[in-house]
Amino acid sequence: MSVGPERIAVAGPSITDREVELAADAARNAWFQDSYVYNRRFEQMVADYVGVDHAVSLSHCTAALHLGLAALGVGPGDEVIVPDVTWIASVAPVVYVGAEPVLVDILPDTWCIDPDAVEAAIGPRTKAIIGVDLYGSTCDWARLQAIADKHGLVLIEDAAEAFGSLHHGRRAGAFGALSAFSFHGSKTVATGEGGMLATDDPAIYHRILVLRDHGREPGDRFFQNHEFAFKSRMSAVQAALGVGQMERIDELIARKRAIFGWYRDRLGDLNGVAINAEPVGTENSYWMVTAVPDAAFGLDKFALMAAFDQRNIDTRPFFSQLSTLPALDDRPAAKRFVSPTDKGAHAATYGINLPSGYHMDEARVDRVGATLKEILAARRS
Ligand SMILES: *Cc1c(COP(=O)(O)O)cnc(C)c1O
Repeated sequence: MSVGPERIAVAGPSITDREVELAADAARNAWFQDSYVYNRRFEQMVADYVGVDHAVSLSHCTAALHLGLAALGVGPGDEVIVPDVTWIASVAPVVYVGAEPVLVDILPDTWCIDPDAVEAAIGPRTKAIIGVDLYGSTCDWARLQAIADKHGLVLIEDAAEAFGSLHHGRRAGAFGALSAFSFHGSKTVATGEGGMLATDDPAIYHRILVLRDHGREPGDRFFQNHEFAFKSRMSAVQAALGVGQMERIDELIARKRAIFGWYRDRLGDLNGVAINAEPVGTENSYWMVTAVPDAAFGLDKFALMAAFDQRNIDTRPFFSQLSTLPALDDRPAAKRFVSPTDKGAHAATYGINLPSGYHMDEARVDRVGATLKEILAARRS
């Protein structure tokens, strides 16, 4: 059997004995009157860190966006403006509540929703805007909020990929009427599956508590349901993992930034390759280090992934334009403001995410960086 170089995974968490100890304690003790102790601690730690009044632990970020839209009263007949390039979980909840997603272009540097494109897509049925902090970049929140205010729309922040990022002195997740985080095992803070909704609005907060628990008032002991709602609570064992992660949050974010720094040292001045941006006034927590080679190399993202795969390195494709996916085949209304020649198409066609999990050390980054240079150099000649 030949022994090639170790396979490098694309993503993965940092779990220490501390998280394991807390999870075990939750499994033993977070029952009876203590069943919510870990959830409450995790929620408070996230609210304090992000700088919001309320945070609610949920089964995943998809549920946070779903309950958030429901709490805001978004429903059939409404349109919600969303970026064309994001994970489908940013947009699926719009469909769950019976509203129509309206896709718009992204910016070529931060890869976040283009405020000009948002304004151009506003119509009489527009109810909300969802901005997505892609790969740790942050949206132009001041402009998006100004647009929302001017047109009487509600702004939602999908901060699933940007835990710990800073935008002009405020943390990702502190913008809009409400925000959503993911603690999926691949994300910056991991509980396996898990999510959180954050808001400063006490009415939204209360509504989420009801919606996530089958329409019961918080603390209801009499099983009196006022409506058909949803069931989207986080378990105590997951919350305990989250508490352990939040105890280490500064270390986790520093590690993500260090991993990006090692990549930047190797790829930052590589001709014809763009990497994650960090505009003045922002600090990117770099969920996924992302490389977007010029079209001139003649390698689309799937060809590039295959080349890395042959060299035992896992990568991910940049999110595709949702408007090109089969899931949107029967939604012409969703696609009326986008086209395959949009600004976002380049990254969506040629970009890949490089291994960015907490298993990455400088030696592994060295190997991935050298591999990218080798693959591209072969195309240059
Ligand atoms: C991961 C992710 C989600 C969904 O998170 P889940 O916890 O898996 O539901 C939503 N939006 C974006 C942008 C994501 O990357």
